Amino acid sequence: MADSTPEAGSLAGGAEGHRRLAELIPVALRAFADGTAERGGPAPAGGPATVAASLAAADAPLLPREGVGATRALEGLSRLLAAGSVDPAETWCAAHLHCPPLAVAVAADVVASAVNPSMDSWDQAPAASEIEREFAGGIAALCYPGAAAPDAVVTTGGTESNMLGLLLAREREPGVVPVCGRNAHHSVARAAWLLGLPAPVVVDCAGDRLLPGALDTALAGLPGPAVVVATAGTTNTGEIDPLPAVAEVCRARGARLHVDAAYGGMALCSPALRHLLDGLDRADSIALDMHKFGWQPISAGLFVAREAADLSALTVRAEYLNADDDTEAGLPDLLGRSIRTSRRPDAFRMAVTLRALGTDGMGALVAHCRDTAAAVAAAIGEHPALRLWGAPTLSTVLFRPVAADHLDAGAGDELVAGVRRALLEAGTAVIGRATLPPRAGGPERLWLKLTLLHPSATPADYAPLLDVVAAAVPVREAGVRAGQSTVGS
Ligand SMILES: *Cc1c(COP(=O)(O)O)cnc(C)c1O
Repeated sequence: MADSTPEAGSLAGGAEGHRRLAELIPVALRAFADGTAERGGPAPAGGPATVAASLAAADAPLLPREGVGATRALEGLSRLLAAGSVDPAETWCAAHLHCPPLAVAVAADVVASAVNPSMDSWDQAPAASEIEREFAGGIAALCYPGAAAPDAVVTTGGTESNMLGLLLAREREPGVVPVCGRNAHHSVARAAWLLGLPAPVVVDCAGDRLLPGALDTALAGLPGPAVVVATAGTTNTGEIDPLPAVAEVCRARGARLHVDAAYGGMALCSPALRHLLDGLDRADSIALDMHKFGWQPISAGLFVAREAADLSALTVRAEYLNADDDTEAGLPDLLGRSIRTSRRPDAFRMAVTLRALGTDGMGALVAHCRDTAAAVAAAIGEHPALRLWGAPTLSTVLFRPVAADHLDAGAGDELVAGVRRALLEAGTAVIGRATLPPRAGGPERLWLKLTLLHPSATPADYAPLLDVVAAAVPVREAGVRAGQSTVGS
């Protein structure tokens, strides 16, 4: 190879691996910095066509016959990736439960990737499996402070955790029927589909929260066993189902309860917010994501069971990974701790992060986001051109331009959707959307959504964004049509 930089075939591990990494990582970081500067904002301007064109214009194809070498490949593609990415570390990138990862977690991930433990057998992950075991135990104790034998396993996220929640319910009671709120994440219905269970019975909500009375009625109408999925932090609004009342209905009706706390679960770390999750420990199982509140690179999911014994449903034997005689001789059996086989040591960076921050420090970051959301919501409430959906419970703020309310429903929603797309296309801001009735009740409308996960953003960072949204509304057109409809009515 012509250049003097490390050969593309060099290893990351072993006694010399760190030297190769010390040469390549600065190359990657420089390109990352250059690409980020080139983008110059929360999103690449120009939309899908522009991003596709910049890849098409790259100096080498992605699958060349002859390689370009490690330096060139890393430089070119790292720069392209950064320049063409949305960056949740930018405060105006706030559409989804898509967090900016903490530097400490990413640094830990470099070591994890270099060492490359695979979590399916002890002989591939001696220390990583011990760290995962202790970390999972700590998370289980956080979720179930009073339980005798809770346990947690690492998942790819809420989708897999919700699937495990339904799977364990099915293993206990084969005829089980899933029941969830209209506010439940789509992964609940998908899990039912995947597991061959009936489609979930969907229960009504008010203000994006499950109605316990409606749940009781639904359970009363079922001939057989049920597993209820409640949500602690909905994807649309961040609302939390009334967990104590839901748990009580489940107990009275003999239903199993899984709580999807993928979004809200880490509020357990905050003494100021923990009360929002009262009743969580009455669930049989919990989904929790640290790639939302938790500031981990994807993926960092946890599935927590009140009874460790429930997880035995995942037990499986594979002679080459957990032979009986190996297990009897004392080698921990890891295969039953996931439905996956090869598995990254995601617990490592979660553990490093929580060790660095402490649960108090983690809780303070969650509380910061929640306080920011409350202040942004207050600013929206006072903004003459914006209407607030309702005060946020976690860190999601929904609003829409008042101008959209002056149009008929379809045209108003089009206006809202158009604002979001215009800001995305320009690379100005990445804002989410949700269709739902106002918190106080009424017909469904399309809302703009800010999901605030930036752990150091301030309300002042968002004040200009509110003005940008208000200004992005084609005021003249909306004004004329609003005037017409007033005259006409
Ligand atoms: C994010 C989320 C999910 C899906 O989790 P993934 O980590 O994306 O698989 C499920 N439920 C809720 C409430 C969520 O917020």
